[in-house]
Amino acid sequence: RELPGDPEVGPRVRQVEGALWSRVAPTPVTEPKLLAHSAEMAARLGFSDADLADPAFAQVFGGNALLPGMDPYAANYGGHQFGHWAGQLGDGRAITLGEAINDAGERWELQLKGAGLTPYSRTADGRAVLRSSIREFLCSEAMHHLGVPTTRALSLVGTGEGVVRDMFYDGHPELEPGAIVCRVAPSFIRFGNFELPASRGDFDLLRRLADFCIRRDFPELRGQGEALYADWFAQVCERTAVLMAHWMRVGFVHGVMNTDNMSILGLTIDYGPYGWVDDYDPDWTPNTTDAQRRRYRFGQQPQVAYWNLGRLAGALSPLFGSTEPLQEGLRRYVVAWNSAERDTTARKLGLLEARDDDLVLMQDLRDLLKQAEVDMTLFFRGLADVDPVAPSLLPLVDAFYNAERQAQAAPALEAWLQRYGARVLGEGAQPDARRDSMNEANPRYVLRNYLAQQAIDRATHGDMDGVQELLDVMRTPYTDQSGKEVFAGKRPDWARSRAGCSML
Ligand code: AMP
Ligand code: MG
Ligand code: MG
Repeated sequence: RELPGDPEVGPRVRQVEGALWSRVAPTPVTEPKLLAHSAEMAARLGFSDADLADPAFAQVFGGNALLPGMDPYAANYGGHQFGHWAGQLGDGRAITLGEAINDAGERWELQLKGAGLTPYSRTADGRAVLRSSIREFLCSEAMHHLGVPTTRALSLVGTGEGVVRDMFYDGHPELEPGAIVCRVAPSFIRFGNFELPASRGDFDLLRRLADFCIRRDFPELRGQGEALYADWFAQVCERTAVLMAHWMRVGFVHGVMNTDNMSILGLTIDYGPYGWVDDYDPDWTPNTTDAQRRRYRFGQQPQVAYWNLGRLAGALSPLFGSTEPLQEGLRRYVVAWNSAERDTTARKLGLLEARDDDLVLMQDLRDLLKQAEVDMTLFFRGLADVDPVAPSLLPLVDAFYNAERQAQAAPALEAWLQRYGARVLGEGAQPDARRDSMNEANPRYVLRNYLAQQAIDRATHGDMDGVQELLDVMRTPYTDQSGKEVFAGKRPDWARSRAGCSML
């Protein structure tokens, strides 16, 4: 509230100038029902089981009631979408209820996604469908448990209302069940929050937002003036680099890395058409439109993040007398990415440290995995079981999708395993220690697209057990769970064509 707000209240769609947020209430829904919640996030916020069972919980997190102190608003931001400046975007279907300070003194912003119209809804409806809400709910929590910085999800509430979405396979608009996710983060500020006032030449607003963000979200930064802004930008660059290394480690593809979807805290934010790599392919993207296909593919993500940081640097340049500190920040990104990538290589391969020739070893492996059509998750998990003294493909056979390509690539992969085994032996680590540390970097379970889809199909028929079971499995993704093998298998053939389908 210390930052300038929009004098007009309510959801009339408009250009909002000179203000960073607009006061707007969630639009009530017919029949809010709590469909799922994150036990960890509920506990973290101090909600008891009784709170969760109370019908008032669904009323609040479905947007029908406010708790004392809540003063809902939508944030104003812009962004570069698919490489082009898009102007004002803003929270078109997200409404922040307020912030909670828990017993540990942590501050968490609570935000409903799909809670109705805001001034930023443009031509859309402000709502979210059950399938995309389940995807955001599950993936936020799965990413957290994988150790990837992310916004969190507290609850999934069904609205009891239908939402119209164009399902283009039959050409007819269809009513789909609606839902609302309450997502939670220390801050939802995006690169685009800074880009919008900068694009309008409103440098006073830009500076106020930067000062606020640094004070609230980067309290560890000391200093003042340009030096402080420079440290802050470098921090954002470094955090973004670390985030990219995590995405590449676990095989996550965001799919819409527009600057309005880039968190200033280096969190994964906005789970839209995201996907998970099954067979290793740096060119794979879950975003199906051709114009987007090249831009937001898996292997491109570190480069796109850098490009996005360049847009942020441009927006922040009015705060600086020269561009040198911003150039320095961008160099810090490159350094941080290289070091995080080196670290990931060591961890995924089970080496104490990654030397330059280990980076080559890893790149050679990636080329082979692509050629041979090999499942990324299964391969790296299985690699921990390869005996470096007598390396063989045996622990890895489950990871192949195509027998012919497996046979073709087998000699090259065996030769690679020989190199790998020699390298492991040369380092002299204890076999158990190597396996354990690899299993902490290479998950057994990831939220494969088809697994989420199966849970969604069940939920659409009123059965939430699939969502619950998947949520439970994803809680400990690095631990082998007995009886849960079905969640650790490679993508079945029937799911192949669906693997890339868009789930906006
Ligand atoms: P996204 O591609 O999800 O990051 O969304 C881009 C912009 O479109 C953001 O400003 C969103 O708030 C807005 N938007 C997406 N879906 C809706 C919707 N159903 N209603 C209103 N605004 C939306
Ligand atoms: Mg977005
Ligand atoms: Mg989105």
